[in-house]
Amino acid sequence: SKSAATPRARPNVLITGTPGTGKTSLAERVAAACGMHHYDVSAVAKREDMCESFDEDLDTHVIDEDKVLDHMEEKLGASDGGIVADYHSCDLFPERWYDLVVVLTCDNSILYDRLAARGYAEAKITKNVECEIFQAIAEEARESYAEDVVRVCASETIEQMEANEASVKAFVDAFDDGVGG
Ligand code: ADP
Ligand code: MN
Repeated sequence: SKSAATPRARPNVLITGTPGTGKTSLAERVAAACGMHHYDVSAVAKREDMCESFDEDLDTHVIDEDKVLDHMEEKLGASDGGIVADYHSCDLFPERWYDLVVVLTCDNSILYDRLAARGYAEAKITKNVECEIFQAIAEEARESYAEDVVRVCASETIEQMEANEASVKAFVDAFDDGVGG
């Protein structure tokens, strides 16, 4: 049965990891496979005008965390669940929002090639590859969420992406059946 802390009909899942590890690709697949709503935090923040500045050094938009968290609270905090969120950081969210936190990881050279293919500047690629080398997001997830909520999954090949989709779907199906949660 669902615990009192998570009185949701369906689970909320966070897909996190360094940019380029495959969060959006996996989140889209999970959303389609499980009939969940995909909330791409960076994309929604841009679309809904919830960025507070542009970081010239990092060549990236900086989200307005207060606005974004308020916007997400309506969907994740107060809803019946069924959201798969995707963001390159995880310690800004309330722990109670998520029933599963998936951290995607990727070999450095594969990640380098993916970011170069996006046309990122050298400094931005280096910063992100270093983030991955130090496993910064996995550590952030372990510090921010209960041990049994966090799963660290390699995302280097299509086979791994399919396996990750299947494993998240299995979690969602079990939760829907009242086994998880
Ligand atoms: P993120 O949202 O984490 O920045 P994306 O989902 O946009 O990452 O993926 C970045 C690029 O890497 C895309 O071109 C995507 O097709 C590719 N990719 C992502 N995950 C995998 C994987 N497991 N195997 C092969 N290619 C992948
Ligand atoms: Mn993305």
